[in-house]
Amino acid sequence: MFAGHVGAALAIGRAERRVNVGAFILAAVLLDVVLWVLVLLGCESVTIPADFADTHQAKFVFPYSHGLLAGIGWSALAGVATFLWYPRLQAKARAAALVAAAVFSHWLLDALVHAPELPIAGAGSAKVGLGLWNTMPVAIALEGFIAVAGLYLFVSGASLSRARKIGLSVLCLLVLALTVAGMTVARPPPSATAMAASSLATIAVICILAGWLGRRPGYHP
Ligand SMILES: [Zn+2]
Repeated sequence: MFAGHVGAALAIGRAERRVNVGAFILAAVLLDVVLWVLVLLGCESVTIPADFADTHQAKFVFPYSHGLLAGIGWSALAGVATFLWYPRLQAKARAAALVAAAVFSHWLLDALVHAPELPIAGAGSAKVGLGLWNTMPVAIALEGFIAVAGLYLFVSGASLSRARKIGLSVLCLLVLALTVAGMTVARPPPSATAMAASSLATIAVICILAGWLGRRPGYHP
């Protein structure tokens, strides 16, 4: 899931326009940033099963990035970081709470689509996951709905130029197209390392582009 996380970030971004939407998107994919960094460091793992071409599902061991307790911890940490990052922002406790909510929205959405592989409290604990990816058309419809609804909520009423609104819309729909391709026609990634590196690069590009497009005139946080 990628476009769904972006959609959640856009919806939350509507609630606090003074925080750059790129920051909300980074928050909403933070658990994946942690995952891919830990995969590169060898602390978490992703394996590509033999039936990947049919299921388009990798298998994850990711207790530190995608455990429920860990997710709550990362959300709290991101909230504190936001609070410290915006020293002069009015209602910064609210902004911090919204960023924390964006981080935690990742866990909730992942728990919908992943197989039961998200541990509650650590590597050996019970695992959850509703496995919506096993019913791919439903998963795609849900992700498409979240992405488009989030985009609509953010763009409508945003004090951005028409060009920036169009740019954000194109970016969001491109992310959705990439996500759907990854769930349907993508070939198996060559290795976990390649998957981690390309995912981190994609996340960086999307956050920077969205942050740039979503910048309000005269406001530079
Ligand atoms: Zn994830």
